[in-house]
Amino acid sequence: MINAYAAMSAGEALKPYTFDPGKLGENEVEITVKYCGICHSDISMIDNEWGMSSYPLVAGHEVVGVINAVGSEVTQFSVGQSVGLGWYADYCESCEQCHNGDENLCSNLTGTIVSHHGGFADKVRANANSVIALPESMDLESVGPLLCGGVTVFNPLVQFGIKPTDKVAVIGIGGLGHIALQFLNAWGCEVTAFTSETKLQEALDMGAHFSVDSRDETAMSLLPRKFDMILSTVNVKLDWNLYLSKLKPKGRLHFVGATLEPLDLKVFNLTEAQRSVSGSDTGSMQTSSMMLEFAQRHGVKPVIERYPFEKINEAIEKLREGDVRYRIVLEY
Ligand code: NAP
Ligand code: ZN
Repeated sequence: MINAYAAMSAGEALKPYTFDPGKLGENEVEITVKYCGICHSDISMIDNEWGMSSYPLVAGHEVVGVINAVGSEVTQFSVGQSVGLGWYADYCESCEQCHNGDENLCSNLTGTIVSHHGGFADKVRANANSVIALPESMDLESVGPLLCGGVTVFNPLVQFGIKPTDKVAVIGIGGLGHIALQFLNAWGCEVTAFTSETKLQEALDMGAHFSVDSRDETAMSLLPRKFDMILSTVNVKLDWNLYLSKLKPKGRLHFVGATLEPLDLKVFNLTEAQRSVSGSDTGSMQTSSMMLEFAQRHGVKPVIERYPFEKINEAIEKLREGDVRYRIVLEY
């Protein structure tokens, strides 16, 4: 049996929920959960904001733990090994995207918390193809947030060939944003944080060269149009035309934050300087491995607040209130 914390319907506080996961699949592993980060996407799924939740819903997709069982066909993992699990728990291995090494774009992807029970539990299962081995030398309690938040902000650097001479800005310094500042700094870029007033200094401490109060209209309007990329990690609607106007010619406004409201972009802001707008979702297995290696080499580390699993509802409430510095990690 698996002992989890589940939402029984949209927006509800989580309740203890025990379920029988059945026989372990031949390609699956079972992980004893040690730590699990709380990503804003967990809240969006608990609340059914994206219209794809099914209940009881066990969220949690920044899992760090130890393998306790392997299916009969699994050869790459053994019991006792430290592993991580991020946004997806399986992919088809046979579509064009999987063949191209873009498993995160697989058309038959199984999301760890989408019609599948995730890591707010003492155990979680996944196809071995989605599980990542963690070197024992990594700090296991803080690595979880890299497995979703980390790879999500690392992936655009790889996808779009961001150069060390580029000027990159990050909108929103929360769970994703604070990791993005560290990656971009280590990548060699000039880094700007668009953040709230209370985080201006901390953003500089985490790797930004400049930080700007994103709610200060004067400060925002005075910025030069200098950015090669602006990365949005917020889930709210902002003045996207203002951000577009701060991109230099051929610059890119890239979305990883799941803003629900449609974008109201002025096409002229794109055409006059050949700017682009794009989005991406997590990253492939290979990008995840590369990201972990890069993080380890450069000392990129999520700044975490630890909570015991029993206080999961308190932790979720804190994230809802935007009060977390900078990622909550639940621990067993
Ligand atoms: P988070 O920790 O709550 O951080 C979001 C940040 O957005 C906040 O810290 C805040 O930063 C900023 N923000 C919030 N309200 C704002 C407002 N009204 N105006 C301006 N800024 C505001 O969330 P997260 O876990 O980093 O997730 C961020 C988003 O990414 C969510 O939508 C999540 O679902 C999505 N996500 C996407 C992927 C993907 O693969 N594409 C993966 C993971 C998460 P400041 O205080 O600095 O302004
Ligand atoms: Zn996530």
